Amino acid sequence: MKEMCNISVIFNSIAERQNSRMKKESSAQIEKAAELLRGARRAVAFTGAGASTESGIPDFRSSKGVFSNLEKRFELPPEEILSYGYFLENPATFYAFYRKNLVHLDAEPNECHRALAALERAGILAAVITQNIDNLHQKAGSRTVMELHGSVGRCYCMHCRKRFGLDFIMGFNVDVPQCDNCGGLVKPDVVMYGERLDQEVISSSIDAISSADALIVIGTSLVVHPAAGMIRHFRGRRLIMINKSPTPYDEAADVVISESAGKTMKKILSLLGVHFETGS
Ligand SMILES: [Zn+2]
Repeated sequence: MKEMCNISVIFNSIAERQNSRMKKESSAQIEKAAELLRGARRAVAFTGAGASTESGIPDFRSSKGVFSNLEKRFELPPEEILSYGYFLENPATFYAFYRKNLVHLDAEPNECHRALAALERAGILAAVITQNIDNLHQKAGSRTVMELHGSVGRCYCMHCRKRFGLDFIMGFNVDVPQCDNCGGLVKPDVVMYGERLDQEVISSSIDAISSADALIVIGTSLVVHPAAGMIRHFRGRRLIMINKSPTPYDEAADVVISESAGKTMKKILSLLGVHFETGS
């Protein structure tokens, strides 16, 4: 019994030491990130699903994401429902899925979004490039936002190209929204599976990354096209990764932080002396 107690004391003490070492490592990494950003003037943030999970938007690619629960109900893989071909042939089912699972009307920007908007106002950040379609960077006040996969906030008529806001889709009293100008099918301005990305957005994103003096990657594993390829255009020397899971670029990064994006950004901005509304 005495031996058992001793063993558990030893284990507890090892765990405590590891815990405190991790905390020290993480605060050292946060300090280093702030130091790297201090002199930056054209920093770029590259964000993925992990930047929005703290706003209650599930990462649909992760196993805990919304898609894994819904496949059964719709009896098709989400990648198929959200494909361009499926949309054209079954717009009613597409819209049922889309309205329920992709549109998050109540979602609010979290500290990560607000911190990035504040960095832009402070003249440190030049642009946000995002894989997210949730419009939360703009809602937080970011002005230069490049949306690689489009935005749920916009839609357009496929026939006459008239543009509409999200309220048009959500307020439509039949399953499939039709253009009030020509009766054409209205499509959300998001990049569906099987569709090409907007080449103008790609090239302006590459321009921003290649002229960036710091790159902050937040909440993306960088394994999905086109994220992985785009990061290679970064020629600066300050690469900061804030991501809960490892990425292929961690080795090359100057700073790797695997904690909450919101809390981390809040601490970095506090060290930089950049004020922003935390909302708490
Ligand atoms: Zn039209």
